[in-house]
Amino acid sequence: MTAVTARVPAKVNLQLSVGPPGADGYHDLVTVFHALALFDEVTVTSADTDSMVVTGEGARSVPLGPDNLAARAVAALVDAVGPGVRETPGLAIEIRKRIPVAAGLAGGSADAAGALVACNELWGAGLSHQELAEVAARVGSDVGFGLLGGTAVGLGRGDRVTPALAAGTYHWVLAFADGQLSTPAVYAACDRLRARAARPGPGGQPAPGDRAAPGDRPGSGGRAASGGRSGAGGRAGTAAPPQLDTALMAALRSGDPAELGPLLSNDLQAAAVSLLPRLRQTLAAGREHGALGGIVSGSGPTCAFLARDGAHARDLAVALAGAGVCRTVASVTGPAPGATVISVPADGGPRGRLGGSEAGRPVGRP
Ligand code: ATP
Repeated sequence: MTAVTARVPAKVNLQLSVGPPGADGYHDLVTVFHALALFDEVTVTSADTDSMVVTGEGARSVPLGPDNLAARAVAALVDAVGPGVRETPGLAIEIRKRIPVAAGLAGGSADAAGALVACNELWGAGLSHQELAEVAARVGSDVGFGLLGGTAVGLGRGDRVTPALAAGTYHWVLAFADGQLSTPAVYAACDRLRARAARPGPGGQPAPGDRAAPGDRPGSGGRAASGGRSGAGGRAGTAAPPQLDTALMAALRSGDPAELGPLLSNDLQAAAVSLLPRLRQTLAAGREHGALGGIVSGSGPTCAFLARDGAHARDLAVALAGAGVCRTVASVTGPAPGATVISVPADGGPRGRLGGSEAGRPVGRP
């Protein structure tokens, strides 16, 4: 049996700035991605027929078959390289999920990135990082960042990704919500909130359910993530073109979490809170328990809290779990590496080497 396993990280957006929707309904974004040490694993095995198995966190709500982002990535790779790249008529894909589904952590995109590097290795396709990134961009906006990992600036739909200078390791507590949010629904809510806020007079005030949690940084129209399409079909937005937050980039270079915490921003936060108002309590609990910063991750509903250090993260995780403001919590560090092959065929020879989680290596030449 010939099988390759890749490990792929979740992400949080340290900045997520959303411009107005374009004619195609997509929003122009400026975002700062940060990969977290919360990993899915994708194993691909040569087989006679295609198959897919998904296990772990939220597995029941993950589509099996061609709609799965990992399957789409494999199809895009075969398309790019040619059908001759496949060693056998079929491919068995196994996904072990630890990244919650539809949680704003880009788990599906991560699995797509994992499938790309795993198949590149399994089939000895030899695509460079750049070539894989081109295939990734055809699969989805966050897939390129799933390949790269670390901390990176994303432009366009979040698919034009450049590594960012960032020092140190950050300690995060993730509060997983009891429920999911659809990314298009959150972008549509963001457009609605902005249109309402732009209307003059009392009608221009947001409805109570639409208000962001106290302490949210207001949508700058220049801050935000993931190739957002609201389905609004090009309805005029009120946001200015997004811009990179230079103070946040300087904080990342300093490596000081106390500098970074207050600068976290997410233009989608008010929209996510409007759709799931109990996130307000989650964000408030993080602040009460001393988080340096707290934010809805991407389109939500996961909330990410920045801690001073590992000990503070453990205390914060216990406090949030005890406060009953979320389904469960996880304490994780960032930045984490992008999609990494962690095991290769026993007969893999020169194509790879066996490795544990520390011995993993990114595939493709940078
Ligand atoms: P986005 O990347 O759009 O912000 P998200 O991070 O909130 O999304 P994901 O976990 O990526 O959420 O899942 C979004 C949707 O993608 C799910 O509702 C699911 O139907 C679909 N999906 C397809 N493939 C996968 C996969 N391998 N893992 C998880 N979800 C998948």
